[in-house]
Amino acid sequence: MTAALVAATEGMRVLLVERAAQVGGSTARSAGTLWIPGNFSMDEAEACADVAAARLYLDNLVGERSRAELRDQFLRCGPAMLQYLRRHSIVHFQACPKHTDYYPDLPGAKPGGRPVESQVFDGRKLGPHFGALRPPLPEFMIFGGIMVSKADVDKLLNVRHSFANQRHAASLVLRFAADRLLGYGRGTRLTMGNALCARLLRSVLDAGVTLRLDCEVTRIDQESRASRALDLRTPEGPHAVHSKRAVIFAGGGFSANPRWRETHMPKPTPQHTAASDSNNATTMELALGLGAVLGTPREHNAWWFPSSVVRRDDGSVGVFPHIVMDRAKPGLIAVDTSGRRFVNEGINYHEFSLAQYHHGAVPCWLVCDARFIRRYGLGAVHPGGRSIDAWVRKGYLKHGNTLEDLAGQIGVDPAGLRSTVERMAQFAATGIDVDFAKGMDRVSRQNGDAANSPNPCLGRIDTAPYYAVEVAPADLGTSLGLATNEHAQLLDAAGQALAGLYACGNDMNSIMGGQYPAPGTTLGPGMTFGYIAARHVAG
Ligand SMILES: Cc1cc2nc3c(=O)[nH]c(=O)nc-3n(C[C@H](O)[C@H](O)[C@H](O)COP(=O)(O)OP(=O)(O)OC[C@H]3O[C@@H](n4cnc5c(N)ncnc54)[C@H](O)[C@@H]3O)c2cc1C
Repeated sequence: MTAALVAATEGMRVLLVERAAQVGGSTARSAGTLWIPGNFSMDEAEACADVAAARLYLDNLVGERSRAELRDQFLRCGPAMLQYLRRHSIVHFQACPKHTDYYPDLPGAKPGGRPVESQVFDGRKLGPHFGALRPPLPEFMIFGGIMVSKADVDKLLNVRHSFANQRHAASLVLRFAADRLLGYGRGTRLTMGNALCARLLRSVLDAGVTLRLDCEVTRIDQESRASRALDLRTPEGPHAVHSKRAVIFAGGGFSANPRWRETHMPKPTPQHTAASDSNNATTMELALGLGAVLGTPREHNAWWFPSSVVRRDDGSVGVFPHIVMDRAKPGLIAVDTSGRRFVNEGINYHEFSLAQYHHGAVPCWLVCDARFIRRYGLGAVHPGGRSIDAWVRKGYLKHGNTLEDLAGQIGVDPAGLRSTVERMAQFAATGIDVDFAKGMDRVSRQNGDAANSPNPCLGRIDTAPYYAVEVAPADLGTSLGLATNEHAQLLDAAGQALAGLYACGNDMNSIMGGQYPAPGTTLGPGMTFGYIAARHVAG
């Protein structure tokens, strides 16, 4: 949608083809955060210094895994992309001053300010197109339809402590009630990735882009250098169109293609994805048929969330990503089948899942006690404790009145689990996790509980009953994609640009080389190269 919006703004006639019945893909269910060093929250001098520092950070973290000129292009154009969208559309962002880079000890890392997130959006402004927007994950909504931002969550978790928080909670519920009365199936106060997609959709329509839903390109034939004939599958039957200037592939990667998953993901091949079920590599396969090639595969060609599997009431299967809400909090441990910990539970999601792979802990168990789950929730179980029994009945949560009982339920060595819990009690008292340093790094401290001392991430596990949920890596998106140059043009096997063919988003080989430097690692470059591609087509 970014590429379409920019191309239309630059005066081109744009056809946006969406395979699913709704736009939004994975982005609509994401947190909607973009990592853009040197963004609008900084003055000019600060922004220049930040871009230089971010270059150093990526050189250290990513290094030879991707081409430096692509990273430089991203760093140069990211802030310009945000400014362009602010000027020409309603795709507006706010800075996230507290979102730290995920490897804070590397040179060039920044403790906050590089990520930006979409401003909240009133979905009613989409008018009749509200239904054309893919909804967020049901597990990310409360009361069956209210979207909450990270700021909302903080207020709701502390609702008892402040009148302002109570007023905010009441306003969310009243707004939802009004939406339902007006006939909306879900709340129209949109946050995170859903707000981002809604803003893009409104802007795309306003810019005059022709949007075709439930439509797919089935064949592309070269006519002349940059002109191509495309066959479309549409609800009304086959349809042919001609593209005079360019085709931009933006199908979101291969998360939903079992064959590609088997070939390009590590073993055991993850069974689930948190990404959109319509991102099945069909766009990339079309591009490969036109002479494009893939980038260099890496050990992990995807980014990971440790995720639990939810059997929903309607029989569908949901994937719940354990991003920031539970793992770092005090009183939770992750254990393998020996009952031992293997990782700092509070580190970033991608790194946590890498540790699962390296340690052979796929799946592992997140274990906590009754006090923890009431206070913080656990995965899809919201804080407050009202729904715990229902989650136990569904089989999502395992529980036991003793640690040994719980260990038996989850197939974990009981002596190992007891000794780990006793060891954690010592760490909670001293505030020092001698084994994995949980709560001693910026990332886990940020997601811990500041009110807990001496360490915001360390707590005892001693209040029966005890609970556990199984987690395994599920991809949030795939990082192996089509090789491009710095203009987002597809490359052939000889490294030559293919005229009029571009890629962006997860169809483009990631400039991060499979690393996950910060919140917003995929959407930042994804939108930036969408902007770059459209500007390049426009000359
Ligand atoms: C819960 C969650 C939270 C996340 N949070 C963040 C975050 O905050 N920041 C971040 O950077 N990343 C985040 N991610 C990852 C991020 O959402 C994805 O990497 C990103 O959305 C991919 O964008 P995209 O444009 O490539 O694909 P998408 O947004 O998935 O869009 C691709 C679209 O192409 C369509 N399509 C596919 N094939 C075809 C075809 N053949 N013809 C026509 N259309 C087709 C799809 O239906 C889809 O609508 C998160 C992911 C999840 C699951």
